[in-house]
Amino acid sequence: MLMQGKRGLVVGVANKWSIAWGITQKLAAEGAELALTYQNERMGRNVRELAETLEKPLLIPMDVTSDKQVIMTFELLKRVWGHLDFLVHAVAFAPREALDGQFVATSREDFRIAHDVSAYSLTALANSAQPLMGEGGSIIALTYLGSTRVIPNYNVMGVAKAALEASVRYLAADLGPQGIRVNAVSAGPIKTLAASGIAGFGSKMRHHRDRAPLRRDTETEEVADASLFLLSPMSRGVTGQVLYVDGGYCIMGD
Ligand code: NAP
Repeated sequence: MLMQGKRGLVVGVANKWSIAWGITQKLAAEGAELALTYQNERMGRNVRELAETLEKPLLIPMDVTSDKQVIMTFELLKRVWGHLDFLVHAVAFAPREALDGQFVATSREDFRIAHDVSAYSLTALANSAQPLMGEGGSIIALTYLGSTRVIPNYNVMGVAKAALEASVRYLAADLGPQGIRVNAVSAGPIKTLAASGIAGFGSKMRHHRDRAPLRRDTETEEVADASLFLLSPMSRGVTGQVLYVDGGYCIMGD
């Protein structure tokens, strides 16, 4: 029970295939008390249904692009829990037309949206979380190899993930003196709702399976295990890092 007595917020559960839901289940099994957010009422129904399997979950509507909703979420956590031990950031979005064809054609507005939702939101959440974390805590964000390599059609999302990973390092430096650690988990391709918006995702998965040293798909549960490690005291000496959970794909030259 690595997370017994710990309370945390998970942002990014959309449905049962969400990586954030895999992480949530793992954390719950290890004794954590959880708060989940959902972006809108349509997704709220899914999240409420999933949350029925958790013990005393808090469910909060929050669009990460709204400063007001972010502030209200942490006010509620302060009122109800008074304290926060961990935060999981598993949100990303770019308009569909930006995830197909050439990166060079990305519009200013699509670039802004992708960075606002997928990168800036981590800083906004970390800034609101820090007063609740007191003397220590752990924050993780989900990222992807498209941040450092050119992955066809990943386009502006890769640029946003590069900003997210740089944010992880700056946040780790700012918050480290308070005992708050900030890390990222870089997952191999997994079939989820967000992934279905990327053109040619199926062929990316096949390529991954053929080339990764472990010669298989990345599983949500192994991403959840690595997340548990980074959120638990087992990783107490680790901050500012990107941990790859991709069957070793990222080490290959071709
Ligand atoms: P997912 O289930 O579709 O989760 C994405 C989440 O982002 C959804 O819950 C979505 O909520 C949320 N979101 C989007 N815009 C939002 C906003 N403005 N405010 C609040 N929430 C918002 O897909 P996933 O693959 O598990 O994605 C989770 C994270 O893992 C993402 O950061 C993704 O980039 C990362 N990742 C995924 C893969 C992969 O292959 N699947 C690989 C590496 C990293 P709504 O559905 O309500 O919009």
